Amino acid sequence: MRKLTCTLLVLAAVAAAPRAEAAHLKVAATLGDLAAITHAIGGEHVTVDCLAPPTVDPHYVDPRPSLILLLSKADLLVVNGLDLEAAWLHPLINNSRNADLQIGSNGYLDVSAFVERLQIPTMRIDRSMGDIHPGGNPHFTFDPRRAKPIAAGIAARLALLDPEHAAAFQENLAAFTKQLDHLITVEHERFAKLPAEQRKVVVYHQSLIYVWDWLGIEQVATVEPKPGIPPTPGDVAKVLRLMKATGTHVLVQEDFYQRGPSQTLAQLTKGTLVVVPGTTRYPDGQDYLQHIHEVTDALYAALAK
Ligand SMILES: [Zn+2]
Repeated sequence: MRKLTCTLLVLAAVAAAPRAEAAHLKVAATLGDLAAITHAIGGEHVTVDCLAPPTVDPHYVDPRPSLILLLSKADLLVVNGLDLEAAWLHPLINNSRNADLQIGSNGYLDVSAFVERLQIPTMRIDRSMGDIHPGGNPHFTFDPRRAKPIAAGIAARLALLDPEHAAAFQENLAAFTKQLDHLITVEHERFAKLPAEQRKVVVYHQSLIYVWDWLGIEQVATVEPKPGIPPTPGDVAKVLRLMKATGTHVLVQEDFYQRGPSQTLAQLTKGTLVVVPGTTRYPDGQDYLQHIHEVTDALYAALAK
């Protein structure tokens, strides 16, 4: 009931405020990575806000009324898709009463349409399998190779909504793509120099497979027995046996997951737990390339030990 009252108050405030003549496009992006990429392409011609706080698991975001307000004013909503935001986003869109952001309209952009996906389930899936995403693994924004078509798709959509600045978006896209290409090659070469037996990891959640694919890293196990299901002591023991059998010493997880099980495994194997940020800290002014560098530097330092 309290939630409903809040929502109604926000909607009343939205209705009362005159819609200012926008000097430039207002974009809302669900994730820090997508906000940062949109900012890189839109530059001074767009304002970009991020819905999910960077330190929060993007599968579960608190649908605060302030997010409804953001959406009510947005010209474009950029979403990851593949059901990553399925638990929280659509009620927010509905409550924003912003017809421009409905699925299928020009103000709704699902970037998963632009990427080649991994881990598309081949069998029938049900709830017993945890948070399996039927369209494939949704954590592709960790991969700068996939950031390229995403950036191109965002540039095209910005140009559609603001044709006057299409040339600027194209120019920004070219510069951003060049930076991505450099990062992709340099990091690939750096990791390729590590011996194969050192390029092995255990990951907490199934969220870095696109990075492993890019950098030639072998994922030995996940600490979660199924996506979104916390491990039991038995699950942790199973991972421990696998780590010992394969000589794996590095565990990786995002900052928003519990650290206890991974820390235990790191201690028992005299290994290293690498905690990486789950997305670009866009609200703090970080850009996408800085975020990816942060991830690869932390990974490399642990693997090269
Ligand atoms: Zn996930």
